[in-house]
Amino acid sequence: MMVRATVVVDNRVGFVRGSFRAAHGLSIVVEVPEEGLRVLFDTGPSAGLLSGNLEAAGFGPLFDHVVLSHGHWDHVGGAGVVRGEVHGPSGDEVVLAEDVRVTGAFEGEYEGRPLPERALVVGDVAFLGCCHFDVEGLLEEYSPRVLVGGFHLLDDVERTEGFLGVLKEYGVEEVYPCHCTGLVSSVRLCEGLEGEPGYVPLRLEWEV
Ligand SMILES: [Zn+2]
Ligand SMILES: [Zn+2]
Repeated sequence: MMVRATVVVDNRVGFVRGSFRAAHGLSIVVEVPEEGLRVLFDTGPSAGLLSGNLEAAGFGPLFDHVVLSHGHWDHVGGAGVVRGEVHGPSGDEVVLAEDVRVTGAFEGEYEGRPLPERALVVGDVAFLGCCHFDVEGLLEEYSPRVLVGGFHLLDDVERTEGFLGVLKEYGVEEVYPCHCTGLVSSVRLCEGLEGEPGYVPLRLEWEV
């Protein structure tokens, strides 16, 4: 089946015409046309930013599902402006359609406190919010070939090399780093694997 993703909120906006805006945060529209499924993965930092960028990218506010990866403001801030069945950061795996799953919560950590976080997996493509948890858990359980989203490397060179090594070890082939990955880390990951640093409104398609 075909899966299509459009980055609608990210720290970086691409060199395009139109009214797209960049802000610290993440939101990705994930479509599976064969299943008639449209999912919003995270909602960015604010309602105004999300609705403006959704409109600029040709989307309305209605989704079948709205997945909130974790509770940070830069991922849940726009939630009030969209409609759909909401899946919050905690809980067990939810199957949205065949081969389309919201993962069970991974135990992450942020500033010394526990932080549950979930990912969206469509076939062998995984979407991550900030990855405040150990990515090995996700790679082991879901074996994705492609990763899209924030990896919270914040341009830390040493952690970036470690992260890249883990992705290679688990057979990840393509990566589209967004948001809190940092631009330097994003470029490095894309040197090591296929893919490119994410930005608004990057549009991607895979056959999974
Ligand atoms: Zn974030
Ligand atoms: Zn976060």
